[in-house]
Amino acid sequence: MALITKAVKGTLDFLPQNIYKNQFVENSLLQIGECFGFKEIRTPVFEHTELFTRSVGDTTDVVQKEMYTFNDKGDRSITLRPEGTAGAARAFLENGLFNEPLPLKVCYLTSCYRYEKPQAGRLREFHQFGVECFGTSDPAADAEVISLASQIFDFFEVDNIALQINSIGCPKCRAEYHKALKEYFESKKADLCHTCLERLDKNPMRILDCKSPICSDIAKDAPKILDYLCEECDEHFKKVQKYLDVQGIEYTINPSIVRGLDYYTKTVFEFVSSDIGAQGTVCGGGRYDGLIEEIGGPSIPSLGFGMGLERLMLLLEAQKRRFPEERKPELFIVTIGDEAKLKAVELARELRLDGSSVLYDLGGRSMKAQMKLANKLGAQTVIVLGEDEIKNDEATIKDMASGATESIRLSELPDRFMSFLMQQAAVQAADTLNFFNTEG
Ligand code: ATP
Ligand code: MG
Repeated sequence: MALITKAVKGTLDFLPQNIYKNQFVENSLLQIGECFGFKEIRTPVFEHTELFTRSVGDTTDVVQKEMYTFNDKGDRSITLRPEGTAGAARAFLENGLFNEPLPLKVCYLTSCYRYEKPQAGRLREFHQFGVECFGTSDPAADAEVISLASQIFDFFEVDNIALQINSIGCPKCRAEYHKALKEYFESKKADLCHTCLERLDKNPMRILDCKSPICSDIAKDAPKILDYLCEECDEHFKKVQKYLDVQGIEYTINPSIVRGLDYYTKTVFEFVSSDIGAQGTVCGGGRYDGLIEEIGGPSIPSLGFGMGLERLMLLLEAQKRRFPEERKPELFIVTIGDEAKLKAVELARELRLDGSSVLYDLGGRSMKAQMKLANKLGAQTVIVLGEDEIKNDEATIKDMASGATESIRLSELPDRFMSFLMQQAAVQAADTLNFFNTEG
């Protein structure tokens, strides 16, 4: 099989006929982020490998098995980002953004790369909407970030999505906990998988996140971190819950959530749905108070989440959620003869400069075939231009939805389309407001 016409395993093409859905979702996400004061940040697709081994953690699946790492021609070890937080944190540090009023809130729409076994909802190139809130230890910030994720699901009218929260404590309370975990897993050593045996010494909490059925079965009865939280962490977790309660955000406490990345502290959370198969975690995040220090900066408590866009889209499709209509061309100009084609090109230029979507035939089609094409492309109106129309500065414009026709001066077209556009913009604005105002 010719490889050059095959996409790499675990990657997807997003095709033009459906892209309006992705665009709607992505624009909405950025707008919802804005409601909470998050501004977009864009960072490179690759970083020095060490950034990820340090921040994500070298005992995690991501670092041990899933990274796309290579040496560039200057013999630097480079890795395609497996997640968005590390790059954003690096940019925050490197650009001195900690001098801005804190917390500094950033969000991004970004591609991520992980060498995983591809299946529904699990790809090798996937996309995330992520938010990061750098420089606050306030439990209200934990609730705010969770509230943002929750508002996204409300906005798209998603149901059957459950929020689960947990606290995995800080290094202080974790020392005790690690001891207890180690003791427990030592007694089950004979049954643990090879990777978990390694984790037992280095990072026993990672065993709780092992995907092997035997290990996860053993993990069920392991000591729970919540019983080991220090006073500060316990207090923090209780406050987060209060701030969620006051917003009416429902959640369950799931002590088995530890998250797959090492940098988390205190609050961790996931939004999970059973409607999209085995890969049901649509959004995961939490606090990472030690991360900035870990990558060489000052101690700056921070938090965030990553939401898988492919999984979000799967969920919207599975629940048959509505998308606003795709924009259709405002006008298709059917031309008869060279003179008319010249006029069409001239007219289209003027209308397009005003923002209208205007098309004409580029394939040498007959008049009948042009009409058919206009229909197929969903043009809202069509005018037919021939020699007479140009000579008389008058043509027939047809509304494709109603079939109604009317006569119009060509010189008046720009004005007419201008007001047409304004009307449509008003309708669209009302529609967007409607989206924001509908209740769950
Ligand atoms: P999982 O347990 O499903 O492997 P994870 O804990 O590795 O997820 P995170 O690193 O927290 O996931 O990434 C945040 C979100 O990104 C996930 O909740 C999911 O929606 C999405 N995601 C992660 N890995 C993939 C992937 N390989 N393909 C598609 N989406 C993914
Ligand atoms: Mg994973």
